[in-house]
Amino acid sequence: SVGIALYPDDESDSDALIRHADQAMYLAKRGGRNRLQFFDTKQEQHLRERQAIIARIRKALEADQFRLYYQPKVDLRKGRVVGVEALARWQHPELGLLAPKDFLPLIEESDLSVAFGEWVLKTALGQLVEWQNQGLDLDVSVNINISPRHLLSGDFESELSALLQKYPQLKPQQLELEVLESTDVADPTRAREVIQACRNLGVTVALDDFGTGYSSLQYLKQFPVDTLKIDQTFIRDMLDDPEDMTIVEGVLSLATVFRMEVVAEGVETLAHGLALIYLGCDLAQGYAIARPMPAEKLPTWVDTWTPDAQWSAACQSSLDQADLPILLAGLLHQREFDSVRRTLDRGTSLPDRHSHDDPRGCHFKRWMESRGVYRYQALHEFTETNHAHREADQLIECVRHTYQNGQSGMARRLFAQLEQAQNRLESSLGQLTQALKSISGQDNQRIPPA
Ligand code: C2E
Ligand code: CA
Ligand code: CA
Repeated sequence: SVGIALYPDDESDSDALIRHADQAMYLAKRGGRNRLQFFDTKQEQHLRERQAIIARIRKALEADQFRLYYQPKVDLRKGRVVGVEALARWQHPELGLLAPKDFLPLIEESDLSVAFGEWVLKTALGQLVEWQNQGLDLDVSVNINISPRHLLSGDFESELSALLQKYPQLKPQQLELEVLESTDVADPTRAREVIQACRNLGVTVALDDFGTGYSSLQYLKQFPVDTLKIDQTFIRDMLDDPEDMTIVEGVLSLATVFRMEVVAEGVETLAHGLALIYLGCDLAQGYAIARPMPAEKLPTWVDTWTPDAQWSAACQSSLDQADLPILLAGLLHQREFDSVRRTLDRGTSLPDRHSHDDPRGCHFKRWMESRGVYRYQALHEFTETNHAHREADQLIECVRHTYQNGQSGMARRLFAQLEQAQNRLESSLGQLTQALKSISGQDNQRIPPA
C-alpha cells in the first residue's frame, strides 16, 4: 500500500506532507491494500473549511448570536391565533441575519445538533413563559422543530421532562414537537419510543413536511403523532395543479380517519386561504397570514390581527360542509379563466391543463356528478349552473386550442364569448349557493322537484 503527497500541489511543510502521505496510505489500506492512493488536497481543504465554520457556529452559540423568530399559526375559521412555530436565525456580526439553510445543515452533521436543539427548546419555552407573564391574552402553544439526531440522542425524553418541570406555569400541551417526515430515521423503533414517551408527558407531536417523505400508512402507524403539517410545496401549487390538490385532499381525509389535526403551511395568498376553508382545513401558517417575526413583535401582531374579510365571509357561509366543494370549484374555475386572460394579454404560452376526462381534473364536474346530481337535480339553479359550467369549460378549451394553433385573433374573439359565459357561470353559481343555503341543514335526501 502506497500513499502519495505531491509537492508543490500540496503546499504544506515537510511534516504535514509526510502526514498527508501517511493518511493516503491509510486510505489505500482501507481500500483493500495492494494499491496506491494520492492525498486529496481539495477534499482536505473542504474539510478544514467546514470544521472552521462549525467552530464558528459553536462560538456563536456561546456568544448568544442565535435568535428564534416566531411564525403564527392561526385558526382561519375561528379567526384566532392558536400557536407559533419557533424558527432559528443566526444574527451574524458581519453577515447579518442568516436563515437556517445557511447553518443548520452543518449543525446537523456535527455534534452540535443536540446542544443547539436544547438551546432552541429552552429559549422557546422561556419565551412562552415571558409572553404569558406579559399577559399575552392567549392560550398559545409553541411548535419546535426537532432534528432526528436530537430526537434519537441519549435521553431526549428525560431532558424534555426536566425542562418542563422547570416551567410549571406551562402545560405540556402548549408544546408541540415537529419531526420531519422526510428524514430517514436511523432507528425507527427508538424514534417511536421517544415520540410515545413525549406524548405520555402531554406534549404533542407533528409530522412536518408531510407528503414529501414516506407518507405510507405503515409510517403513520409506526409514528403515533397528533398532527400532520402538509408540506408547503403542495399548498403552494394546489390551486393550479390538480395532482397537488389531490394530495392535499388525501392528507385531509387521512387525518380525519386517523383523528389527527392538519396544519397547512405556506399559505401565501388570499385564494390559498379561501381554498383551505372550503376544503375544511382550518389551521394554517404562511406569508398571507404572517412572516416569522422576532419575539417582541408578536404581542402587537396578535392584538391587531384579523382574518381577511373574504376568509371570514367564507367561514360564515351557512352551507353544509358537503356543499363547500362547489365554492372551491368556482374559485378554481375563476383562476383558470384569469390565467387564460393573462396569457392572451401577455402573449405568453399557455400553462398545461389537466385532461377533463380525468375525474381529478375538475372539481365542478366531480361535485356536480356526485352530490350535485344525487341531491339537487330538481333545482333549476342546479341545471343552470351545470349548463353554464359546461359552456364556460368548452369555451376555455376552444380558446386554448385556437391560441395554441397560433390563431390569436380568433382566440381573442372566442375569449369575448368566454367572458360572457364566465359571467353567467358566476351568477348562476351565486344563485345556486343561495338556494343551497336556504335548504342547508335539512336531512341529506334528494330534493324533490318543486
Ligand atoms: P419548516 O419547519 O418547514 O419551516 C417553515 C419554513 O417555511 C420556514 O423557513 C418559514 O419561514 C417558511 N415559510 C413560512 N411561511 C411561508 C410561506 O408562506 N411561503 C414560503 N415560501 N415560505 C414560508 P425557515 O425559517 O427558513 O426554516 C427552514 C427550515 O429550517 C424549517 O422548515 C425547519 O425544517 C428548519 N428549522 C428552522 N428552525 C429550526 C430549529 O430551531 N431546529 C431545527 N431542527 N430545524 C429548524
Ligand atoms: Ca416545521
Ligand atoms: Ca414544514
